[in-house]
Amino acid sequence: MNTERVIGVDLGGTKILAGVIEDGRVLQTVEHPTPTTSQDALFDGLAAAVLELPLDGVEAVGFGIPSRFDYRTGFALGAVNIPLREVDFVAEMSKRLDLPIGVENDASCAAYAEHVHGAGQGTSYFGTLTLGTGVGGGIIFAGKLFHAWTELGHMVIVADGVPCQGACAGRGHLEAYCSGTAATRVAQEAIGPDATARDLIEQHHPALETIGHYLGIGIGSLVNIFGLERMAIGGGFGIAAFEQLLPAARRAVLREVLGDGGRDLQIERAQLGEAAGLIGAGLVAREVL
Ligand SMILES: [Zn+2]
Repeated sequence: MNTERVIGVDLGGTKILAGVIEDGRVLQTVEHPTPTTSQDALFDGLAAAVLELPLDGVEAVGFGIPSRFDYRTGFALGAVNIPLREVDFVAEMSKRLDLPIGVENDASCAAYAEHVHGAGQGTSYFGTLTLGTGVGGGIIFAGKLFHAWTELGHMVIVADGVPCQGACAGRGHLEAYCSGTAATRVAQEAIGPDATARDLIEQHHPALETIGHYLGIGIGSLVNIFGLERMAIGGGFGIAAFEQLLPAARRAVLREVLGDGGRDLQIERAQLGEAAGLIGAGLVAREVL
């Protein structure tokens, strides 16, 4: 592996995490609250975070953004919690930084990092699903990051099902059944108004079997579309509930996937935790060199 030094930036709804990265090792980071007053303030804040880091030897900057990203045009198409809407992200950052700019959706960044440095190593067809506040995901296709919206959490798994979360007007999406937020809703119905997803896990509650089933339905469709060899489950809820979700998820995968694909699919925990987004943004930076 080459030893390019890059900067990765993980843009979240509440914080900007930027770091100098070399060969997947994070050498130094800075963290700032995400400016949300205007789009210009957001871009200025991103540039300021990068410029606070030592730039000597840095060859490119990669951004993981919580937005659909159009790889053809460089446009960020819209984010839920931050002021990014139909804007040429690459051009805006190029005005502020004299370095090559790479951009990718944040969940795709995390999948990319898991493929190169974590749970996806050694595979060519690999997917991640991150079960947290929402559900995110990314796909490695033929050994390369699949550059698309990959809003895997907004895949329909139940026709006309329960309403999705946040700004999504859809129904029956994976996110509405398998996110930590959805699990907390289930906990409140099953246990009581103060219960959370964590109570389901601590009580080994049978409702987790239902959530695991829905997860497996979603995974099954992804395997049928992409021919995945391995799927990694991450996110706060996904990691904590992994063992309890897995049996029902596995049964659903066996039922839904064509041929022997379900039996052959490996389902594992993601390995990189919250660092995945930052490390993946660094990998995206390397792509523009
Ligand atoms: Zn949705």
